[in-house]
Amino acid sequence: MEGRSELAARIPMLSKSRFVTGCQCHKLLWWTVHEPDATELQPDKVLQDLFDQGRQVGELARTRFPGGVLIEAPHFARPERVAQTRAALESGVPAVFEATFIADDTYVAIDVLEKRGKGHHLIEVKSSSSQKDEHIPDVAVQAYIAAACGVEINSAEVMHLNKEFRHPDDGELFAHSDVTEAVAAFVPGVPDELARQQEMLAGPLPDVPIGLHCFEPRDCPFMKRCWPDSPDHIGHLCGVGPKRTAAYLDRGIRSIGDLPPTEHLTFQQRRQLKAMAEHRLIVEPTLKRQLEPFASAERLGFLDFETIMRAVPVWPGMAPWQQAPAQFSYHQRQPDGSYTHAEYLAEGPKDARPPLVEAMIKATSKADRVVMYTSFEKTRIREMQRAVPQLAGELAALEAKLLDLHPVMRNCVYHPGFNGSYSLKEILTPLVPELTYDDLVIVDGRVASVEIARLLFVAGKIPRHEHDRVRKALLDYCERDTWAMVKLLEKLEELATGNG
Ligand code: SF4
Repeated sequence: MEGRSELAARIPMLSKSRFVTGCQCHKLLWWTVHEPDATELQPDKVLQDLFDQGRQVGELARTRFPGGVLIEAPHFARPERVAQTRAALESGVPAVFEATFIADDTYVAIDVLEKRGKGHHLIEVKSSSSQKDEHIPDVAVQAYIAAACGVEINSAEVMHLNKEFRHPDDGELFAHSDVTEAVAAFVPGVPDELARQQEMLAGPLPDVPIGLHCFEPRDCPFMKRCWPDSPDHIGHLCGVGPKRTAAYLDRGIRSIGDLPPTEHLTFQQRRQLKAMAEHRLIVEPTLKRQLEPFASAERLGFLDFETIMRAVPVWPGMAPWQQAPAQFSYHQRQPDGSYTHAEYLAEGPKDARPPLVEAMIKATSKADRVVMYTSFEKTRIREMQRAVPQLAGELAALEAKLLDLHPVMRNCVYHPGFNGSYSLKEILTPLVPELTYDDLVIVDGRVASVEIARLLFVAGKIPRHEHDRVRKALLDYCERDTWAMVKLLEKLEELATGNG
C-alpha cells in the first residue's frame, strides 16, 4: 500500500458518509467520489424530502441538550470547524453539536458530543424509528476519528425516533439505543477499512459483483449501471425480493432460463415461466369465478388513497412515519354502466382525516362493493376508525364492502410484460396499453406523498400559481389510479368471458 500522504495528494478526503457508502460497496464509493455530478446522485424530490426531514429531526434532537453549542462554521471550512470544536470542548460546555474532527485524511462531524465525567458520550441522531445494524459503522468511524484526535469516547448511542410516541405529546419523541459494545467491536477494523477505501479510490473503478449489498442497507443509485436490463434476469422472477435474488446469484443462477427443472417454484412462478416460453398472456380458467363478487355488485366503487408520511408526526394520535390519507379518488360504476367520480384533497395543515372520511363515506354510501388494489386502502381505513372515532361505524361498514383485485390478478393472470411484478403500473401497459400515465406531471405515489406534504405544511412559501398547479397534478394522478382499476377490471371481465 502507498503511504497516506502520497494517497492524500491524489484523492479527496473521506468522510463518515463516504466511509459508510464504502462499507456498502467500494464501486458505489468510487462513483460517488469520482462522479459527484452523476445524474444518479442528484437527489430527487423524495430523497430531498428525506434529507429535509432528517434535518428537522436533528434540530429537534439538539433541543434535548440545554447549553449545547453548535459548530457553526460552514462544512467546507474544515480547519475553522476543527478549531471551533476544540474551543467548545475546552470551554466545558455540556454538549457540542456537529463536533468536527479530522484524522487519517477523514473528516467527521458528530451530531452530539456530550461531556460525561472525564470522557465523552457520542450520540448519532437518526430519523429512523429504530436502531439498525447499518448505524454501527457510521458511529464507529466517528468514535475512531475523535479518539485519534485525542477525544476520549466512553460510550455511544443512536438517538432515534420512538415508535411508541403519539402526536402531540403522548410519550417521548426520541428513544435511545446504546451501541457502545457493538461500536467497540467494530472500531478496531476501521483503520484498515479506511486505508482500503483510500487505496481503492486512488485506482481505477473496482470490479465488484452485484449482490445483496446493492439493496442493503439502502438501494444503490447505480443499479441501472451494474444490473443487466434483460427481462429474464433472475431478479424478475415473480415474488423474488433482493435476498432471494442474491441467493440465486450465489448459486450461479443469473437468468430465469438458468433455473434447473428440479427447482421448487410457486404456482405463479411456473405460470410466469410458461408465459415467457410461449410469449403469450396466460389466463387461468378460474378467473371468471374469482370475478363473481365484482360482477354481482350493481354499484361498484373503485377507491385509492394518497398519504402523507412524516418523521415527526403532525396529526393527533399519529406515530413517527405513520402514513395518513390526505387524498382520495373514487369512481363508481352505476347500474347503467356509466361512471361517476368523487375526490378529496386536503388543504392546510389541520388534520385532514375527519373531512376526508366524511367526504369518502358520502361518496361510497350507495356502493354495493368497493374495489381496491392491494390491502393498502383497507389498512388505512382500519387506522382511520381509531383516528375518526365518530365515524368508526361507517368506516367499518365501508371496510366490509372492500374487494381486492390484486389477489385475483396474482391467482389468474400473467403476461410476459409484467416483468415478474403485479404492481398496478407494471401490469397496466401490457393489459391496457391505451391507458398510460405519460401525460401526467406526477406519476409516482412517493412523489405524490411529498408534494401533498409540501402543499399542506409549507403552503405559505409556495406561490399561488405553483400551489394550484401541484394541486391539479395531484388530483389528476389519483384520479388516474382509480380509472386504471376501472379499465383493468373491464379488461379482466373481457378475458374471463373469452373476449379479451
Ligand atoms: S449496483 Fe451494486 S455493485 Fe453496482 S455500485 Fe451499486 S452496490 Fe455496487
